[in-house]
Amino acid sequence: MDKVNFLHEALIFLRSSPQSTAIDFFTNEIDHKEVKKTLQNLFYDRQDLLLPELNEPQVVRHYTKLSQKNFSIDTTSYPLGSCTMKYNPKINEWAARLPGLCSLHPLMPIEILQPALKICYEMQNWLSEIGGFIQTSLAPSAGAHGEFAGLAMIAKALKDRKEHRTKIMVPTSAHGTNPATAAFFGWEVLSVEINNDGRANLSQIESLMDDKCAGIMITNPNTLGIFESDLAKISHIIHNKGGYVYGDGANLNALLGICRPGDCGVDVMHFNLHKTFTTPHGGGGPGCGAIGASEKLYKYLPTPLIKQTNNFYEVIDNDKDSIGRIRSFFSNFGLLIRAWTYLQSLGPDGLKQVSQKAVLNANYIRHCLKDHYYLPFKSDCLHEVVLSDKWQQEHGVSALDISKRLIDYGIHPPTMYFPLIVKGALMIEPTETESLFDLDHLINAFIRVAQECKESPELVKSAPHTTALSRIDEVKAVRELRLSY
Ligand SMILES: *Cc1c(COP(=O)(O)O)cnc(C)c1O
Repeated sequence: MDKVNFLHEALIFLRSSPQSTAIDFFTNEIDHKEVKKTLQNLFYDRQDLLLPELNEPQVVRHYTKLSQKNFSIDTTSYPLGSCTMKYNPKINEWAARLPGLCSLHPLMPIEILQPALKICYEMQNWLSEIGGFIQTSLAPSAGAHGEFAGLAMIAKALKDRKEHRTKIMVPTSAHGTNPATAAFFGWEVLSVEINNDGRANLSQIESLMDDKCAGIMITNPNTLGIFESDLAKISHIIHNKGGYVYGDGANLNALLGICRPGDCGVDVMHFNLHKTFTTPHGGGGPGCGAIGASEKLYKYLPTPLIKQTNNFYEVIDNDKDSIGRIRSFFSNFGLLIRAWTYLQSLGPDGLKQVSQKAVLNANYIRHCLKDHYYLPFKSDCLHEVVLSDKWQQEHGVSALDISKRLIDYGIHPPTMYFPLIVKGALMIEPTETESLFDLDHLINAFIRVAQECKESPELVKSAPHTTALSRIDEVKAVRELRLSY
């Protein structure tokens, strides 16, 4: 590497110069000797830490550059299906950073916490209204956590009825967390096949349902992005034989203001605030998998619940029927502020438009790409569309190659090889926040790559060509972690 390039690429450790500091204090407010002593104790005498010493612009540039090394929703569209990677409105961030909210501590006196409890209370109510439930608990920290809490509620209800049921149905089009949660719970998973139209097989559900079966866990829209239009019939079959319907509502982006799962007989369902309700996610957290419950199950909801009497908000923790606490304090509160702001800024009509536009965008993509990529299920889709690499396989090109090549066009790869029921799946979820311009860019890139698969498959198979590193051995990279500089 020549010297100019070397200096440009140099790591932060090489930029260090002794005694540089990136922190400024108000001189009249600070006892400098004390600060210096504290810092010395913490860092300066710890030569073994080898921390770089830098001034403020160096630190700012370092983190700004790091933030650009990855794809993010702030730099490109992010069509990962099943994840709802949508734009996170900046007004949410403003609200979450208001000093009066972000400096609260959950152990402060309840009088001081009133505004925060009001936000929790309204979120409980609004989610209940959106999902068609009696009551909602904000306690679960993720979708899968909500599933676990929901099954615990069903188990407690069955115990109260002195019944022992340890089997549960899960269609093959469910999200993987559904059978995983049921298995984690120690229940036997009864797999339900899907029809040619991508929907769960009603007659199989009817024949599997008996007095040893706790019910069904059903993802709607399912992982093919298809609406389970028989949901009310399915619920009827389950309820008639004393079972419960667990609804996976992680992908509620398609249903807001249009269909309420509670009205279709769902007894308990998780929402993913970190998907549908625009709170940022990725990298494992933080999340909120709030769960709403019907008349039959709401008394078992996890605590705490926020109740209001005479304009005073109280924290209810000692409900005897509840499955109890499943996490500390009141949910991931920062997320609740963001989701609350999102709902406030949209209102009921705006929320409905979100789903209409999300569904329209996905069907537009489906229509524009159906002659270029094989479409395994022909039904209209909701918020996402699943294609496959079947036609490209004829030229020896796989879904992985296609995804890598899309990076060269500035497009984040779609979800690949999921759902498992579609071989070589490419799953695209545009969300409502992408403009027609950006959708066309995405579509044109997919079409271009499909052409390249026919004309120059080697170009696609060796992609990406524009990144610092091309193909890496991903398995090896995960198994043999080696960090060095
Ligand atoms: C994301 C997702 C989940 C799991 O949610 P987590 O918050 O990641 O635990 C469950 N079901 C569906 C349909 C999902 O899309």
